[in-house]
Amino acid sequence: MKKIAVIGAGVSGLTTARLLSKNNEVTVFEAADTIGGLIRCERINGSLFHTCGGHIFNTKKQDVLDWFWKQFDRDKEFRLSERNSVIHMPDGIKLPYPIENYIYLLPEHTQKAIIQDLLSLSKEEQQNCSNFEEFLQKRFGKTLYDIYFKPYNEKIWRSNLSTVPLDWLEGKLPMPNREDILFNNFNHIVEHQFVHSTFYYEKEGGSQFLANRLAEGLDIRVSTPVASIQYTKPYWNVCDEQYDVVIFCGNVRFLPEIIKGINMQSWEKHIHDLQFHGTTTVFCELEQNPYSWIYLPDKECQAHRIICTGNFAPSNNANDIFTGTVEFTDKIEIEEIQRQLSKIPFNPKYITHRYHPCTYPIQEKGTREMLQSFKKEMATYGLFMTGRFVDWEYYNMDAAMFAAMQTVNTINNL
Ligand SMILES: Cc1cc2nc3c(=O)[nH]c(=O)nc-3n(C[C@H](O)[C@H](O)[C@H](O)COP(=O)(O)OP(=O)(O)OC[C@H]3O[C@@H](n4cnc5c(N)ncnc54)[C@H](O)[C@@H]3O)c2cc1C
Repeated sequence: MKKIAVIGAGVSGLTTARLLSKNNEVTVFEAADTIGGLIRCERINGSLFHTCGGHIFNTKKQDVLDWFWKQFDRDKEFRLSERNSVIHMPDGIKLPYPIENYIYLLPEHTQKAIIQDLLSLSKEEQQNCSNFEEFLQKRFGKTLYDIYFKPYNEKIWRSNLSTVPLDWLEGKLPMPNREDILFNNFNHIVEHQFVHSTFYYEKEGGSQFLANRLAEGLDIRVSTPVASIQYTKPYWNVCDEQYDVVIFCGNVRFLPEIIKGINMQSWEKHIHDLQFHGTTTVFCELEQNPYSWIYLPDKECQAHRIICTGNFAPSNNANDIFTGTVEFTDKIEIEEIQRQLSKIPFNPKYITHRYHPCTYPIQEKGTREMLQSFKKEMATYGLFMTGRFVDWEYYNMDAAMFAAMQTVNTINNL
């Protein structure tokens, strides 16, 4: 039995602590006054507000699925829904997701331009790209890039897409070739390959229910930001207590300042260069609609997505209103939010908003390798790490759970 400190009570910290607590003495430290991290929800006037996004669950990882359904009663506690996403074009046309399968719904002149783009792209051109902009232009053609991919992605990444490295993309985006795109359009293929083309959602309480269940029985100290962890061989001192092992599940960008007793000089520069974005999530009353996600490529409004959480579970709406969240990259002040909401379809009416500073890690060339070496070295001192902002990966909850399981296996085999 080891004495273990877990820092961070998001999905990663909670999964890790739950798995380890069977055979060890585990304490979880959480900076915020509630557990959940990015999956936190609040009730506002009875309706459920996902303070970041609108978290839904599914996975193609069998290990995660098996473990997950041991924690929950699938039939009693969850609903299974089909994704109904739509891209709301500036001219009001609504196209299902992914847009490249629905070219046949666009105006005739746009369809012809896209077909011409696709036919003019050679296979070699499609495969040899050096950055995100080039990838999107060569994979989908200039017309689709201009009307959708460029404006939508520029809103999320708030940068010139030619500066976004391709490493970030690996395994995260569909990569149809031009034959796939044309075939899918001729045959009106509906995409079922995405991990979230169907999804599970909690009947009550949204993703906070998930966090609360994973936290059951754990020793969790909320409102306890860990500002320093002191290594004095062979132990770690965290909040005046001694631990055999520490597992960090926060943002690795801030870790070098927290670690004391180990020379961090060679890592500081690399880790300080890591970049990430935050998200402002605005809780709104919305016009009733049948969608789960509404993507907004319109350059005139800054928001990039509406998540109709009111459709995920009837219990998410109270007082006869229909609710959802509107997302903006980075911090947006209330006056600007109010101005922006008037440009968004489905007539959103402001209820409240929250800002999460760490939501989207930006991977650069070499980030993965650098962090793997860092993790390997820190593990020799009994400091382990796992999570979206440790692996610097665009993890969904299932991937965060999977990474936590792997970290736990390593610790169990010590
Ligand atoms: C907009 C958006 C929408 C998403 N939608 C989905 C979805 O629908 N489905 C899905 O599966 N995934 C979704 N994800 C991904 C999902 O949110 C993440 O995979 C998951 O929440 C990551 O959990 P984590 O524990 O790694 O990180 P976090 O949730 O960020 O948790 C880290 C925790 O550590 C705490 N912490 C940090 N530093 C310290 C410290 N020094 N001391 C104490 N505590 C500390 C923080 O307060 C926080 O609670 C979405 C992500 C975003 C950004």
